[in-house]
Amino acid sequence: MVSDPQDAPVMTTRRAGVSFAASLTFEDIHHSYHAKETIKGVSLAAKAGEVLCLLGPSGSGKTTLLRIAAGIEKQSAGRLLLNGQEISGPSVFLPPEKRGVGLMFQDFALFPHMSIRDNVRFGLTALPKKEALNQADAALERVGLSHYANQYPHVLSGGEQQRVALARALAPRPAVLLMDEPFSGLDSRLKDSIRADTLAILRETRATAIVVTHDAEEAMRMADRIALLQDGRLVQVGTADELYRHPRNLFAAGFFSEINVFNAQVRNGRVDTPVGTVAAGRHQEGERVSVAVRLSGVRVGEEEGDIPARILSRRFIGVVELLELAVPRCEDVVRARIRADQLPQGLRDVMLSVNERDILLFEKDGSAS
Ligand code: ADP
Repeated sequence: MVSDPQDAPVMTTRRAGVSFAASLTFEDIHHSYHAKETIKGVSLAAKAGEVLCLLGPSGSGKTTLLRIAAGIEKQSAGRLLLNGQEISGPSVFLPPEKRGVGLMFQDFALFPHMSIRDNVRFGLTALPKKEALNQADAALERVGLSHYANQYPHVLSGGEQQRVALARALAPRPAVLLMDEPFSGLDSRLKDSIRADTLAILRETRATAIVVTHDAEEAMRMADRIALLQDGRLVQVGTADELYRHPRNLFAAGFFSEINVFNAQVRNGRVDTPVGTVAAGRHQEGERVSVAVRLSGVRVGEEEGDIPARILSRRFIGVVELLELAVPRCEDVVRARIRADQLPQGLRDVMLSVNERDILLFEKDGSAS
């Protein structure tokens, strides 16, 4: 077992209440519910102090990975390492309370009959009472809710409940904080500011955080790195920028931006699509490829453009409009996302062009060029 020399030392003792951010490594993790394999060999490391988002559609295995990390679920094969030390694997299984790993649930799970201070103190039973109270108060202060310490959860708004749950998860100073869809229960208008506050608190405490979300935009706003999962497998891991600009396959491309998909073939070093052509890159002459064109990359003008098109429908959704267009040589509708009010009402015939950087090529089996 080799530990990363850059990793900070981990102090899991709760008595001192001190721990440094740790790295958490999933090493070839497999897991099954009954006969169904739900995690199919995931290797992934959250670096010390980073916010890593587990992103993927419902059922892709995000929560299962989080539960394995927390120790409430055991993998069928593979190892879990905290700062290079095995905490779960063939030779060892540390129970949840010995891992120095905190878990924040989706529904916040506050106890209604306990004061807010006692809710936060709940995970600090290993500490002497006075120390536990001090630490609970410090955690409440960190999330800006000290004034509610003696009140009960029913007086809190959804956003405040989320902050109490965060304070409770952070109070034992976990080396790694695991958060399962932490904002999904919140009003969409509150989400942005609560997410920003949470991120600021995570940065301040310097905890390593693994955050589950199915929302690509949320992952892009929060994460230092994003791990994209599909059907129990890791598709790609990287920064938001890397995943957006260089998605590994069509699935990843479609997860980060709305796309039109065309089938095409390489001819004379280029790929011709119904909305424009692009250099074939490493794809061979004659190869069949899948082409993804971002909706936001389709430019629609009254006169300027390369390809004539007819507007079939327009939908105003606030700052932008979604267009459906018919273009020559293409049976499928082409979709575009343009600035609202850019085109006069009633306009039918337009011209299209596409930014080359918004055209992505993939092998027919799905890998990117
Ligand atoms: P996600 O968090 O990405 O939505 P999950 O980790 O919850 O995905 O689920 C992964 C797969 O495991 C899904 O196919 C789901 O149906 C299955 N699964 C999750 N929990 C259970 C369970 N308790 N019993 C049986 N199957 C489960």
